[in-house]
Amino acid sequence: MSLKVLDLGEVRLRYYVFGSEEPRVLVTAGIHGDEVTGVYAAYRLAEYLSTGKRLNGSVVVVPVVNILGFAARTRFNPVDYVDLNRVFPDGAGSIITKRIVRAVWELAEQSSYVLDLHCAGLNSYQYILALYKGFPKVKQFTDLFPWDTVVESTGLRGQLFVEATHRGIPSAIIETVGGDGYYNRGWGETLLNVVLGTLRALGVLEDGEKPRAVEKRYYGKLVHVESSAEGFSNPVVEPGKDVVKGDVLGYIDNKIITSPATGKLIRIAKDVYIFEKEVFASIAPVEEV
Ligand SMILES: [Zn+2]
Repeated sequence: MSLKVLDLGEVRLRYYVFGSEEPRVLVTAGIHGDEVTGVYAAYRLAEYLSTGKRLNGSVVVVPVVNILGFAARTRFNPVDYVDLNRVFPDGAGSIITKRIVRAVWELAEQSSYVLDLHCAGLNSYQYILALYKGFPKVKQFTDLFPWDTVVESTGLRGQLFVEATHRGIPSAIIETVGGDGYYNRGWGETLLNVVLGTLRALGVLEDGEKPRAVEKRYYGKLVHVESSAEGFSNPVVEPGKDVVKGDVLGYIDNKIITSPATGKLIRIAKDVYIFEKEVFASIAPVEEV
């Protein structure tokens, strides 16, 4: 194992390299600085791999991409308010953002797979986000993940995993529970196990544990339920539950919010005051085959 420290002038990007062969898996976290559960899982992954596990390939871990955003607990780089996950591969805004984005992109280009860890919110359900429909190699990759929920991405350009996918590198995001500068330890461990399971299924990690097959369901692009009123949110469905179109999801003050789609509830606003047109809930829709 080696810890690399890349001097980018104003900031230093730290990452870990385990093994040296192909295939190479890049695991990144903290592109959004306030999504701390991903950072937790990335550090746990580095800790696990540093105990001398047998690798058939290599793993590169960047636990905190957005270094200043992580320190400030903000999604953006606080220096320029740029969302790093919108400006791959070239970067934008300040020289700090540009240098970080280009350095991480360089690591991505040297990799066979990219796995980017994010948070979907404090009251959410963990899911894999990928362009599985248009890219058969991505579908083969996500088929390996020991997790039950895969959602089609919007494909918005400038995201690390989207740009890597377009370069022919199978890539995905895992969105887990956390955000706003908070992490969830239980979900962080669950996320770690999904990442380890994926490395085992790829044949990269050979630690004696068997890869675990999980029955998974592929969903369409997230359907967002906008609030038609403002007030205090009162959800009545837990993230991860199946919902049917028309089901009551919750209330904003006394106004009923129902589900516009049949699928799985991914996130729902809880313990917050919601403004009109804000997203109250997100559903992963079941699609007709
Ligand atoms: Zn994110």
